[in-house]
Amino acid sequence: MRILIAEDEPISRRLLENALTKWGYEVVVTKNGEEAWNILQQENSPNLVILDWMMPGMDGIEVTRRLRGRQQDNYVYIILLTARSRPEDIIAGLDSGVDDYIVKPFFDEELRYRLKIGERIIRLEQRILNLARIDYLTGLLNRRAFMERLEAEVSRANRTRGDLGLIIIDIDFFKRVNDTYGHQAGDLVLQDFAKNLTEFCRGYDFIGRYGGEEFIIGLPGTNLEECGIIAERIRQQIETSHTSLDEEGVFINVTASFGITAMEKAYPYTTDKLISAADNALYFAKNSGRNTVKNYKEIVNK
Ligand SMILES: [Mg+2]
Repeated sequence: MRILIAEDEPISRRLLENALTKWGYEVVVTKNGEEAWNILQQENSPNLVILDWMMPGMDGIEVTRRLRGRQQDNYVYIILLTARSRPEDIIAGLDSGVDDYIVKPFFDEELRYRLKIGERIIRLEQRILNLARIDYLTGLLNRRAFMERLEAEVSRANRTRGDLGLIIIDIDFFKRVNDTYGHQAGDLVLQDFAKNLTEFCRGYDFIGRYGGEEFIIGLPGTNLEECGIIAERIRQQIETSHTSLDEEGVFINVTASFGITAMEKAYPYTTDKLISAADNALYFAKNSGRNTVKNYKEIVNK
């Protein structure tokens, strides 16, 4: 786990760094509140932070106040380092929103165990966040988490004039699977389907379960043509694979229809515009006999 420290005093900073490194932490060292705040605003900054209270410029309390005041995905666990040990000082420190405090000079072992408490809380928090973001059956992103990610990717692509592909997929005649083999078999089919999607997407694509048997994939940096190639690859994989039930010799084959779109040139896009283009393409694929990939440019009004 990575820990950020902010301490203006060189000797104390060195002691902290040495101790943390010895205990196996990866340490990001800063000398004041400004440096710490700059790093904490970056993506993937440490979730565990040790802040000295008294620092020139922005002090530890101010960094805490700013951290607590922003919208954040992950909780940052803050330990305040202070030379002040009077109860009223400690209360003022805790009141600012820190999780814990350590009085300087500190005992190594005490700091070590307090860090373990922090780690435990961060892990718990990450587990809860994951539970809230992941579709229980398939392990993919749930609809809400997918939409959040898509919003972020759309605004990034608008900003950078980049490509962003979107694929919406619906399993053909899924109701028949449930009606014929039961819902448990239906769940197995959905799980296998999700595995196939994961296998045929790239590491930076993001995949969500959009509805019952509807799935959705965001493909950063991908234009319409590339999007079509990937969708077609997935379609073929789905068509040729099957879910086997425990009963001998029972295989369930499904096919799927694909609607694709991509952000190309006509910026700015909105998430709604992108979704509805893919949705219309999917509708067109359904009307074109299913088990096919259609993009929004192919839609023919009949
Ligand atoms: Mg200081």
